[in-house]
Amino acid sequence: MKQELKNFGEIELSRKVLQALREMGFEEPSPIQAQTIPLTLEGHDVIGQAQTGTGKTAAFGIPTVEKMAEKFHKVQALILTPTRELAIQTAEELNKIGKFKRVRTLPIYGGQAIDRQIRSLKRGVHAVVGTPGRLLDHLNRGTLDLTNVQTLVLDEADEMLDMGFIDDIENIIRQIPDGRQTLLFSATMPAPIEKLSRRYMQHPQRITITKENLTVPLIDQLYYETREKFEGLCRVLDVEETGKLIIFCRTKRAVDDLTASLDARGYSAGGLHGDLSQIQRDRVMKRFREGRIDILIATDVAARGIDIDDITHVINYDIPQDHESYVHRIGRTGRAGRKGVAMTFIEPKEYRQLRLIMKLAHTKIQRKELPTASDMLE
Ligand code: ADP
Ligand code: MG
Repeated sequence: MKQELKNFGEIELSRKVLQALREMGFEEPSPIQAQTIPLTLEGHDVIGQAQTGTGKTAAFGIPTVEKMAEKFHKVQALILTPTRELAIQTAEELNKIGKFKRVRTLPIYGGQAIDRQIRSLKRGVHAVVGTPGRLLDHLNRGTLDLTNVQTLVLDEADEMLDMGFIDDIENIIRQIPDGRQTLLFSATMPAPIEKLSRRYMQHPQRITITKENLTVPLIDQLYYETREKFEGLCRVLDVEETGKLIIFCRTKRAVDDLTASLDARGYSAGGLHGDLSQIQRDRVMKRFREGRIDILIATDVAARGIDIDDITHVINYDIPQDHESYVHRIGRTGRAGRKGVAMTFIEPKEYRQLRLIMKLAHTKIQRKELPTASDMLE
């Protein structure tokens, strides 16, 4: 039998990278890291599937940084992510891993002044993490050169290869040399998308940590059935012991409405969606991270990748469209071995949709009754 790796020292990593991992408090590799890092270092293309919050960023980030030539100040790795917030967060993690090796990663995303990004690119960076639209903008202007890219990563690969992004992604990939290594990571990997992804890869090794259950066992999953969702939500917020909490809504408009309604009731909430300016988006994320607001109300723009370690609850105020969205939304809690609670509000007619989600995500969501007036008095 194959021996499980016990610590990072047993993987062929340089002293500087190991030192950075120690400083980050990473002692042992998570299962996805233990299995994919050696393969990636050997040069294989890799498809990695593991539950939310299990360290997929470092799974591709560690070998990517390890392989980089620090003295060569050209873009050697490109990481594609679906949202701006995730680009920023991922660049931060790579910069931590590359701290002692002095390998610099730049986030490139829409909504930020392009001149500033052009100046940073000119100064020379080793890696770029970006959203497709803005990356294409740079490619069209000739301000981003991908000819030295050796490693291409699609984080949240299924989302990136989904209809909305595919043309942009293909345009970007065309500008990267053929000999590159390609890495795909996500907690969910629908079969048709995986098939498509293989067109961009060479003999990929597939590592699957999620066996049947796509969700994290540490997340307590329950649902409330009610025709009065707003009153129900307020009761839950009043009774439940919560730390930070994310509430997901289906539309931007619903996010704005719920934010205003909760605000009017005296809760400290902030909204996040794609129609806000980047400054507004950054501000609400910062206030939420720092704990100046404890409720973030968002569309699925916050469903993927966001890693904030003290989120205790995720609430689906509107039921997710599909089971992938469910898996990623609730995965904002229960990260890195912590516990979490995921609650879904449904109207009676939505039970079928909930049952489908349970079936496809191979998970159980327990019914719970809303707190009663007497619970509220306790
Ligand atoms: P995923 O992409 O799988 O959802 P992340 O890469 O965002 O998960 O990691 C989740 C959290 O776990 C992050 O806060 C990260 O810093 C932490 N983490 C990752 N790997 C390790 C490790 N080996 N030891 C301790 N913490 C880790
Ligand atoms: Mg991730």
